[in-house]
Amino acid sequence: MTKIPLVDLGAQHAALKAELDEALARCAAASSFIGGPDHAAFAQEFADFCGGGQAALCGNGTDALELALCECLGPGDGTGEVLTVANTFIATVEAILGAGYRPVFVDVDPATGLMDPDALEAAATPRARAIVPVHLYGQMPDMERIAAFAAARGLAVVEDAAQAHGAAWRGKGPGLWGQAASFSFFPGKNLGAWGDAGAVFSRDEDLVRRIRRHADHGRQSKYLHDSPGRNSRLDGLQAAILRVKLRHLEAWNAMRRDIAAAYRALLAGIPGVEPPVEHPEARHVYHLFVVQVPRRDVVLEALHARGVMAGVHYPVPLHRQPVYQGRDFARVSLPHTERLAGRILSLPVFPYMTAEQTARVAESLAQALSETGA
Ligand SMILES: *Cc1c(COP(=O)(O)O)cnc(C)c1O
Repeated sequence: MTKIPLVDLGAQHAALKAELDEALARCAAASSFIGGPDHAAFAQEFADFCGGGQAALCGNGTDALELALCECLGPGDGTGEVLTVANTFIATVEAILGAGYRPVFVDVDPATGLMDPDALEAAATPRARAIVPVHLYGQMPDMERIAAFAAARGLAVVEDAAQAHGAAWRGKGPGLWGQAASFSFFPGKNLGAWGDAGAVFSRDEDLVRRIRRHADHGRQSKYLHDSPGRNSRLDGLQAAILRVKLRHLEAWNAMRRDIAAAYRALLAGIPGVEPPVEHPEARHVYHLFVVQVPRRDVVLEALHARGVMAGVHYPVPLHRQPVYQGRDFARVSLPHTERLAGRILSLPVFPYMTAEQTARVAESLAQALSETGA
């Protein structure tokens, strides 16, 4: 029995092999490993893709979010609050804490798993400085309401768009609603490098300049440093690979949307499965296709036994993570987040996934549900 992986990058690499080989050879020939022409070109091309602004390229998506917060708000002393969700990858909160802010968890919409604007408004205190909505699974929450609330309260909006390259809310993508959006190019993301990589996109030129400087040792010139810094740069090789792949991102997102549509049709007849809710105002790019099922852990095990390598994003919400127990920000009750954590199941989705594969996943899920009595 051949396995169906959660993500299979092999097909996209095979499709682009000649272009990728040429890009790497070009970098090696020019010895452009830090900075260089591909680095500058990718920053511009990615910013253009995001809708016209600029991009600061970073070593990874976690640093991108931390540096964006740090440069938007100034380094914090641990008392300023940043409103976000607990249904996300831990990096979101690592970045908030790293920038010197206290995360305040807001419950999610039980249909989409995304930030609930009503809960956001209820959770904002006078200590709030910023909102970090997370475009989880490839879908954006109601950014119109979130941005309007932020504007009314004087809060910054820095979007965690690590899973949402190409997503939109009412036609506007990440970074066009507030101060900035951070992206990850971790290999399995919709746009992925061959290693760690990240970026901040913003229309605020000065903000992008400060993030670039922060990520390059706070340099004013080669050995003169006039602001706090660190080393979080994007490799020239990664930039060259990302340039090649960026040209295919729209087509790959379209494939993901087609796979999602195929899944919806296949799952419609299976009792117990709730397909993901796609908001009519959202362009969902299906980084993950997340269904809800009863008795999720048992169903997951039954799927793995059939070679369908489904996953869970994420099984432990951040306020329940062991590392944060005892921290005051983790002492919150988030009923929708907690209920979802026991029901969500990510089915395999990746560009070039075949109709046979989606059919086998759906069939295996139906069998898993009936066999487990779920
Ligand atoms: C992947 C991811 C990150 C972190 O990106 P890295 O490049 O792995 O540091 C942050 N937030 C979310 C929601 C992610 O999925």
